[in-house]
Amino acid sequence: MNAHQPSSSSPTASTPAVKFDALLARVLDSNAFYRRKYDAAGIALDSRPNLANLAHLPYTTKEELAKDQAEHPPFGSNLTHSVDRYSRMHQTSGTTGIPLRWLDTPESWEWWLSCWRRIYAAAGVTRQDRIFVAFSFGPFIGFWTAFEAGQSLGAMMLAGGGLTSVQRLETLLANAATVLVCTPTYALRLAQVASNAGLDITGSSVRLTIHAGEPGASIPSVRARLESAWGARCIDHAGATEVGAWGHGCSEPNHLHVIEDEFIPEVIDSNTQLPVSASEGVQAGELVLTNLGRVGSPVIRYRTGDLVELVRAPCPCGLDTVFLKGGVLGRADNMIIVRGVNVYPSVLEDLVRGFDEVGEFEVELQAQREMSEIVIRIEIGSTGGESIAQRLSDSIHQRLNVRARVDPVAPGTLPRHEMKARRYVIRSRG
Ligand SMILES: [Zn+2]
Repeated sequence: MNAHQPSSSSPTASTPAVKFDALLARVLDSNAFYRRKYDAAGIALDSRPNLANLAHLPYTTKEELAKDQAEHPPFGSNLTHSVDRYSRMHQTSGTTGIPLRWLDTPESWEWWLSCWRRIYAAAGVTRQDRIFVAFSFGPFIGFWTAFEAGQSLGAMMLAGGGLTSVQRLETLLANAATVLVCTPTYALRLAQVASNAGLDITGSSVRLTIHAGEPGASIPSVRARLESAWGARCIDHAGATEVGAWGHGCSEPNHLHVIEDEFIPEVIDSNTQLPVSASEGVQAGELVLTNLGRVGSPVIRYRTGDLVELVRAPCPCGLDTVFLKGGVLGRADNMIIVRGVNVYPSVLEDLVRGFDEVGEFEVELQAQREMSEIVIRIEIGSTGGESIAQRLSDSIHQRLNVRARVDPVAPGTLPRHEMKARRYVIRSRG
C-alpha cells in the first residue's frame, strides 16, 4: 500500500472537510460531552459548524475529560452512541494522574488499525514481515493496534507479552522476526540485555524497528544508538490513547508526518492559547489535534501538550502532508526557560545520548521564579564518570548556553521504564 493512497477502511475519497462535517453532525446530535461543552460556549447546537469554523470551537483538554469521567463514571459522557455499541475499553497509563478510560466501537477500532497500516506502509512493512511486539498487552492501548493492524496486513505477528526481556530476545531470535515494535527506551534496554546475555542482535534478521510511546526515534543521537544497537533502520511513530495513531517518520531522519486526511493539526501558544503564526515556514508551539475517524469517542481541538515545530512544505521524501521537524520535542509542562532560552527535553536527551558510556538518565528541572537549574543524573558503569559528566555539562553549555549540573550515578540506580519513560522531574524551589 502506498502512503499517498487513502486507507483501505475509507474507500470513499472523503476530504478532511467532508469527514469533519459528518463528525460534527453526529457529535452535535448525540454526544453529551460535546453538546454540553459547545452549548456552554454559546455555540448553537443546530448551527452545524463546518471546518471553516474550526477556530471558533473551544479546545478540549485532558483535565476536562478526566473531570467528565469522574462526574459520569465509569466511561464519561464523550460517547456518541449508547454504551452497548462499544467493544473495546483501554485506559491511559495514568502515571501523571488518574487513568482515563477510552471506549472504541468496532468501526473506530478499525479506523485505528487503518492509521497503523499507514505507519507500516511508510516504514515499508509488508505481509512478508514477522513483527515482534515487545509490549505487555494490558489495559494500556499501546501496541494493541500495531499488533492487530499487522495481522490485518497479513504479516506474522509475534506477541511479546508476559515474558522477561531475555525471553523476549530469545523469542524474537528463534522466530526470525524482521521488525521490532516497542518504545525507544525499551529497545535500548533490550539491546543492553542482549549484550549482557551474549545474544547477537545486530546479526539477527531484524531489519527495522518502529518506535512510539515517547519521543526518541526522531532525536538524532537516540536514533543513531538504536540503529547501531540493532543493526536496523528505525522509524518513529506518534500516537495517543485519546487521539489515535497520528504520525509517522519517513526517509528523512528527523521528519514526523501527520496523517492529515485523518487528523487536523493546529499549533497554538500554550500560554495565550492563540494560534501560532509561521516564522520562516515553521509553526512552533503546542500541537492541537482533531481526529476524524473515531466518531464514537472523538477529540475535537484536543490540546496534546506536545511541543512541536510544524512545517507546511514539501518533504524530500515525496509525501505532501505537513511534518514535525524533530518529531515531538517534549511535553509543554516539561519545558523550562533558563535565562530566556527554551530548553526542550529532546535537546537534552540528544546531548545525553551522544555519550555511549551513559546508560539510563534522569533530568531534574528545579524551577523558581528568577532562576531555573538543570540537574542531570547519568548512569555510568565504566570508570571516569566525573570526566564524562564534565564533558556532558560542557556540551550542554555549548549548545544551549545554560549551565547544567551533571551527577554520575551507579548503574541500576535510576528507574527503568517499559512503556512511557518518565525521565523529567520538575521541582519548584521556594
Ligand atoms: Zn517526509
